[in-house]
Amino acid sequence: MSGRIVSIVDDYGYDKMIVDLNRLCSANPFLQLSYIGESVMGKPIPAIQIGTGDVRIHYNAAFHANEWITSLIALVFLEEYGNAIRTDSFILDRRAIDLFRRTTLYMVPMVNPDGVDLVQYGVNESHPFYELLMQWNESSCDYSQWKSNIRGVDLNDQFPAHWEIETLRRNPTGPGPRDYPGEAPLSEPEAVALADFTKHNNFHLVIALHTQGREIYWNYRDYEPIRACWIAEQLAAVSGYKAVKLTDSDAGYKDWFIQEFRRPGFTVEVGFGSNPLPIGQFYDIYEEARTILVLGLSLCSLSD
Ligand SMILES: [Zn+2]
Repeated sequence: MSGRIVSIVDDYGYDKMIVDLNRLCSANPFLQLSYIGESVMGKPIPAIQIGTGDVRIHYNAAFHANEWITSLIALVFLEEYGNAIRTDSFILDRRAIDLFRRTTLYMVPMVNPDGVDLVQYGVNESHPFYELLMQWNESSCDYSQWKSNIRGVDLNDQFPAHWEIETLRRNPTGPGPRDYPGEAPLSEPEAVALADFTKHNNFHLVIALHTQGREIYWNYRDYEPIRACWIAEQLAAVSGYKAVKLTDSDAGYKDWFIQEFRRPGFTVEVGFGSNPLPIGQFYDIYEEARTILVLGLSLCSLSD
């Protein structure tokens, strides 16, 4: 288990992540840090690229603000994978350098940095959205149930995959802590950044990390390839999670990815309990999640 560079703390937010990413890159020169765009508040959204292979895999975390523990999972995985590559050792049952040569992993560890910082640190009156946020949060200073971005838009309801149907289903009254799909698909810069990044890199397989439920969602309106079900069952077998076929859900990132690319895309709900999951559960959740992240690098071939 890693954790020597990444700080496993319960007030983990954007600035701490940037410090850790820079330290990870210093320790592992083969990690490449770039930025895929900016949040509403102008925070650059980082991506880490690792590997030299032709199979392009994308993992992302913290689409939802109060699921910030998934960012720590992403960072600790980068640390463990980086260590194993540098020392030519194994990560679980795989030789890391083999994964490194066969795949290129593109990790976006915090899709929604403004939202994460809102949940973690709250806002004061100097924040440009202070009045609106208080209104949207029903005058409460407790933002622990906030999933949206800083404009009250749920980023995982923002993608052009039957977005209109999702909007009718959600019947939103307007911006708020969760479930508001925005005024149009891709109205939010964080969703645009991820969509552009995905189109540019033409991934073979994607996994979006969320909390909670210990479940793996793998389908979308029969657009998914046949092997998606099989891959989900393999991921479920190693993690102890349950592969679940979903209906009545649209406009999510993995929905859009499956629809646009007809390749395997997954939402993985790590951990079990009430969001935000407590940091005391981190290592238990990580033990399960890393089995999925390692196998995700192993199952996909160039024909996918
Ligand atoms: Zn979520």
